[in-house]
Amino acid sequence: MSNEQDLRLSFEFFPPKTAAGHEKLSHVCDRLAEFAPAFFSVTYGAGGSTRDNTKGTVFSIKEKGLQAAPHLSFGGDSEADIKALLSEYRAAGIDRIVALRGDMPSGMGGASHLVYANQLVEFIRRHFNDQFHLEVAAYPEIHPEAKSYDADIEFLQGKFDAGANSAITQYFYNPDAYFYFLEQCRQRGITQPIYPGIMPITNFKNLARFSDNCGAEIPRWLRKRMESFGDDKDAVKALGVELVTELCETLLDNGAPGLHFYTMNQAEPTATIVRNLGLAGDD
Ligand code: FAD
Repeated sequence: MSNEQDLRLSFEFFPPKTAAGHEKLSHVCDRLAEFAPAFFSVTYGAGGSTRDNTKGTVFSIKEKGLQAAPHLSFGGDSEADIKALLSEYRAAGIDRIVALRGDMPSGMGGASHLVYANQLVEFIRRHFNDQFHLEVAAYPEIHPEAKSYDADIEFLQGKFDAGANSAITQYFYNPDAYFYFLEQCRQRGITQPIYPGIMPITNFKNLARFSDNCGAEIPRWLRKRMESFGDDKDAVKALGVELVTELCETLLDNGAPGLHFYTMNQAEPTATIVRNLGLAGDD
């Protein structure tokens, strides 16, 4: 395992819709805090559909004395709205933003409202200088709308040129895709850290459906193996933990600078995987 001291762990949540969901997430957060993550991030519905909920979730994490990073995208919001939201975040001591173009939720209008992430990064730097550490998204298996592999890396470069500090990747199950992507980024002069995004496997059918739309490939062998379990959820989860632990080991052993977990608001299996990796904090 590479130097554990320097590894950056982060955990992603989505904002719950109900009071019960918030209560449950609070426990999940306490549980995962044991691993001393650099931050917890909270997703944002482009078009502002989760604005207050994202903000509320971020503030409640911050109130626990933990670091929280809201995701943000312009969606159809005005510059004044986004500026006001960022000012509120600053006033609450938030110093990290995950800056995205976002995807419009269905029923929120067309993609014509979307603003590219590099423009959001530029906007934040223009109005807030270096008050925020800015994370952006990267796609080792290439964003589904990208014109080409090279074009997608060029646009990632554009986000760094605009002032992003680091990137978090879409999830993937083929570590070669990540390392090849890193090499291509380095060859083009990108020097900033690119943290692999890790999606634990719990509900395989949902994951397979979701992956088709977001630029993440499920390798054929993995799909076949999981499908052979049918409705045996425990078998899916057990193999999922084993395979994702192996994936993380391969990533860390080969120099990945840390791991960002898409927790789906569940403490397990992320906690099991982090423990398997020997990254558990003090009990
Ligand atoms: P961009 O970097 O703007 O790129 C979008 C597409 O346009 C790419 O195909 C790119 O190649 C192309 N492109 C970029 N710039 C230009 C340009 N100037 N001209 C022409 N083409 C260009 N979605 C949400 O809705 N909410 C979230 O909270 C959220 N969190 C995420 C967190 C992570 C770590 C990741 C990896 C993804 C997340 N997403 C989220 C999904 C993301 O919003 C979608 O993948 C979205 O389609 C692209 O967002 P982006 O910031 O990568 O876009």
